[in-house]
Amino acid sequence: MKEQIGILVQLQEIEIEANRIKSTLEGVSGKIGGLDAELNYAGQEIEKGKALIDELKKKYRSYESDYQTNLSLYNKSQERLSAVKTNKEYQSILKEIDDIKAKNSGIEEGMLKDLDVIEAAEKEVTRLKEEFLSIEERIKREKNILIDESEKDKANLAALDEKWGSISKNVNSGLMQKFNSVKELTKGTAIAPVSDSICSGCNMNIPPQMYNELQRFDSIKFCPHCQRIIYWGKESSTP
Ligand SMILES: [Zn+2]
Repeated sequence: MKEQIGILVQLQEIEIEANRIKSTLEGVSGKIGGLDAELNYAGQEIEKGKALIDELKKKYRSYESDYQTNLSLYNKSQERLSAVKTNKEYQSILKEIDDIKAKNSGIEEGMLKDLDVIEAAEKEVTRLKEEFLSIEERIKREKNILIDESEKDKANLAALDEKWGSISKNVNSGLMQKFNSVKELTKGTAIAPVSDSICSGCNMNIPPQMYNELQRFDSIKFCPHCQRIIYWGKESSTP
């Protein structure tokens, strides 16, 4: 019985390790998805910057066209000035010319400001592109590490499965069934050592009689509280 118990403990250790690896593997696709999303976000920032530049350039072109329109109005006014007959007319055209000049100087100011903003936006896009490349590089590296680790984990898992298979052959079938059904019941471990009368599966005291019997390893025992298969574990250090 002691040997059988020893095998079940080994099987349980293998299962715990295998489950740990499985949950790591399950997390990998989420991690890869997170890295992809990060790169995607960096790409979107570049597109936003480009769209802003397009908008600013459009605004600049509309300034330019207003400027040209005013310029031709200015030229026409200048022509009319040479053909005026009365002083009143002359004064009115002069006023028109002043208005046009004022408008165009406002437009010029706007164009200069726009050019500054475009320059700053272009610098920002250049910076974002450089940043994107370094993020891309890092993400590629991180993905490769994740993939390498997954491959190792998968290999380890396969080795554990094989080990489990060969070890489990030595457990008698009735005991194996019990082991599996307790595992089903607890949704976790099926076998637990008892030390100082306490079941390590549920941390409850087991009856003294049962505890004494455990030390003989002559029959299979179950914890009366959690139903796990129990075996006599080490006593904690006595003073
Ligand atoms: Zn228990």
